Amino acid sequence: MSFTLAIVGRPNVGKSTLFNRLVGKRLALVDNQPGVTRDLREGAARLGDLRFTVIDTAGLEDATDNSLQGRMRRLTERAVDMADVCLFLIDARAGVTPIDELFAEILRKRATHVFVAANKSEGSAADAGVIEAYGLGLGEPIRLSAEHGEGMNDLYSALMPLA
Ligand code: GDP
Ligand code: MG
Repeated sequence: MSFTLAIVGRPNVGKSTLFNRLVGKRLALVDNQPGVTRDLREGAARLGDLRFTVIDTAGLEDATDNSLQGRMRRLTERAVDMADVCLFLIDARAGVTPIDELFAEILRKRATHVFVAANKSEGSAADAGVIEAYGLGLGEPIRLSAEHGEGMNDLYSALMPLA
């Protein structure tokens, strides 16, 4: 039996970049399945020998500041409820923002399994943000660079027990 991973976090932290890295060209097949909405993209992920379903919480990118919080909460809660495990992304270069804190609160209340990943962590400019991510109270952050494919081994180690 496999599992479903939801990638959650505020806009621009790199969720879709990670989704695309995990799914590659297989998204085209999944897109035709029923139940795939514009706001939640679902794909067949591959990471080493792991095979699982991944959900990208898209659809927040065009929200205005006013509507963002409510949409963010509803969309994230939907994704969390569909998933066995959540990967909460922050942007290590930006550090932990107030919106990230809101996400952490939603996840602490709602999700059973949560991993925090500090994305964009290639290079030393991300070091402070990685340290800040410990303060979210969701465990040790996984240091990732979705764009450069760094940290995928640590993501594998975190997810492997769920397979
Ligand atoms: P989303 O809104 O959370 O889905 O974020 P996107 O995946 O669209 O990425 C937002 C921006 O961050 C894009 O310009 C990406 O190229 C960039 N980005 C994503 N991952 C990384 C990374 O690991 N390092 C750096 N430096 N930039 C990244
Ligand atoms: Mg996106």
